[in-house]
Amino acid sequence: MSHPIAGRITFNLVVGILVTVVTVIAGIAWMAYRQNDQAAEQTRTMVMGGVDAMHTRIQGLANDYSWWEEAYDAYQRGDEEWIGANIGTGIVDTQIADFLAILSPEGELKYGWSTPADAPTPKSVLSPELIGMIEDLIRSARVENNAARSGYIETAAGTLLVGVARIAPFSKAETVDPASLPLLVMGFYLDKKRLSGLGQTFLIDDLRLEPEDPSHKDSEFPEIRDLYGEVIAHFVWTPPTPGFAVLRNVVAPIAGGLLVFCLIAMGTVLRARRLALSQALSERQAIEAARTDSLTGLTNRFGFNEMIGGAAFLDASGKGAAAIIYLDVNGFKSVNDSIGHQGGDELVGMLAERLAMILPADACFARVGGDEFAVALTGRPALEAVAGIASAMVHALDQPFAVAGFQFQVTAAVGYAVSDGPDVAPEELLRRADLAMYQAKNAAERDAVQYHSGLETGALHRKRLGMALRSAIEMNEMSVVYQPIVRVSDLTIVSVEALVRWESGEFGRVSPAEFIPVAEETGAIHDIGKFVFQRACQDMVDWTGLKISINVSPAQLRDPSFANDLGAIARRHDVVPNRFKLELTEGLLVRNPTIAKRKLARLKSMGFGLSLDDFGTGFSSIGYLRQFPFDWLKIDKSFIAELGTNQTANALIQSMIALGDAMDIAVVAEGIETVEQLMLLRMLHCEYVQGFFLAKPMSAAEITALLAELGESRRILPDLDLPDVVPGRAVLTRFG
Ligand code: C2E
Ligand code: MG
Ligand code: MG
Repeated sequence: MSHPIAGRITFNLVVGILVTVVTVIAGIAWMAYRQNDQAAEQTRTMVMGGVDAMHTRIQGLANDYSWWEEAYDAYQRGDEEWIGANIGTGIVDTQIADFLAILSPEGELKYGWSTPADAPTPKSVLSPELIGMIEDLIRSARVENNAARSGYIETAAGTLLVGVARIAPFSKAETVDPASLPLLVMGFYLDKKRLSGLGQTFLIDDLRLEPEDPSHKDSEFPEIRDLYGEVIAHFVWTPPTPGFAVLRNVVAPIAGGLLVFCLIAMGTVLRARRLALSQALSERQAIEAARTDSLTGLTNRFGFNEMIGGAAFLDASGKGAAAIIYLDVNGFKSVNDSIGHQGGDELVGMLAERLAMILPADACFARVGGDEFAVALTGRPALEAVAGIASAMVHALDQPFAVAGFQFQVTAAVGYAVSDGPDVAPEELLRRADLAMYQAKNAAERDAVQYHSGLETGALHRKRLGMALRSAIEMNEMSVVYQPIVRVSDLTIVSVEALVRWESGEFGRVSPAEFIPVAEETGAIHDIGKFVFQRACQDMVDWTGLKISINVSPAQLRDPSFANDLGAIARRHDVVPNRFKLELTEGLLVRNPTIAKRKLARLKSMGFGLSLDDFGTGFSSIGYLRQFPFDWLKIDKSFIAELGTNQTANALIQSMIALGDAMDIAVVAEGIETVEQLMLLRMLHCEYVQGFFLAKPMSAAEITALLAELGESRRILPDLDLPDVVPGRAVLTRFG
């Protein structure tokens, strides 16, 4: 696995190592070369100095032998013997020069000596041309001491350094004609032996003469010119390389040092790389984790928002090819409280898994809250499928979940919104899906709701309802109606349920299903609740023996003074609490079971009866019935509506009745609209029923009148024929 940071670290450090190594090597090499250059320069200077000294010496010798009165006289005399003894032998015996010749003023070789014995004689060496050259060399010199000249001449026997002087009598130096004086020529052959002797004094092994400068650079090696300035040869040698010698000595330790340095640096590189990689990895994991819901492994709200804010979704949304589905599980948060967090988590996991199965593979499925899920879809085919997908999500929850030994029937509100053009930003799409979801929550039918602009006014409408609700009681717009609850066996009215009614000046008749949730949101529910209870207390005075069911919202139960308020109102009206049954939905029980248990126990101890309303729609579990002291259980009317139409509904109702039986809790079926439903419930041994078929909700006066009409028996529908019910359990197959 590679990572840009690790790569950069590796690159930087490798470059660092290379730069260091190259710098060290280059530095050392530079120093070595510089030292070589210095040494070469030094050697050159010494060689030049040596050559100079040679010139000086040959000139000095030539002077010594020529600025000599007796020698001049001897020459004039033609005294060969004197000259041989005093000049010639001096050379041959002492070997101070290789070559000595005396030329007449006319340029004729008069005397000549050479050493060693087998060396070429001056006679054979000095051609007339060379003699002319020698004469030219001295021609401009004055007649005086130390007037000797030196220079190189190329002879057949080798390069010869010659010193030339006029043999002159110093007594007549002033007057003598220079052209009349003989010349003395002395010379060294620059042969191997002499050059190597010269070289050794400068620590050069191979000083030699070569016609070309091997460096091909001017001034690298000193050149030798003949008397006319022609280059005849170069002093050449191999320059010493002390730098390389030093280099050879330091190469090993430096290479070792560099190796150690490289190893340490590589170690550091690897360590830093590993560190960077692990850091990058954990960074990536953290980023990943920040976008993932740990429980379900789905994208979380942050990740989802990021996704729909991303370019791809933005683009699709702008083209009208994106949709968002929002799903909220009804009353889910409470599951944790009833079966513990672990069970709740397990349920969320199962839920997510089941929902994921029905979604297309390219959908972005996210858990955006504890019990909220969102799906983002893009592309034309997805848009065509969105309604079907949303609906499938609702019905995916039809089958109950088995968690911690309990069967949970979960329902969900699903809303969705489809982008209809470039004006719809992703956040707007999300808001719309959310709004549609809220609509689905309040809708009677359990199906997905598509966003439409009408919902916007719905939200506004709720706001205005909330405002109007504040003054509804003072404005005398609230009233209470009562719907009888009847014993199945003999159709006697045993109880009535108080149901609030609102005739709004602004909105007309508003259903409690619509305004109760708004009242719960705004807090108006507390006053409404008290109003209904108070009105019931007043109305029931005439209805001896009848029990009254009062609907209580979870919000009311949460009010700490709720029980005391009820108690006080009942006392004021001189009504005993045991004539009341408080109808509660599961909401609060699930959300906060410990508090609920305490509150219910308190109400129970005050004498109030308790009824579990809308059983079967939420997380109806046997657990609640065992934990909470309910006397009544009301099977939700949605089940009754399906009674006789399918096996599942039948079985469910039968099992709920059996459950009530087993737990000694009276079962009420609500929403009976037909005689068939009534008869079936009779067969199922349901104890109590309530519904339009038996009696509609009616005013207190109407109840009073009805009771008076029915007389002692209080039996409604006296004309209805009630066949005997077979004792024992009804068999499901009898009503398929
Ligand atoms: P709920 O407690 O389940 O009340 C029963 C609802 O079913 C009532 O609707 C009633 O009119 C209706 N109903 C009765 N028989 C039938 C039938 O045969 N078929 C059909 N389809 N419906 C029938 P309503 O009066 O509209 O009340 C709706 C809900 O509003 C109630 O449901 C209850 O939850 C709430 N509610 C009503 N009054 C109050 C109140 O005073 N306080 C509180 N907190 N909630 C109330
Ligand atoms: Mg009720
Ligand atoms: Mg109900």
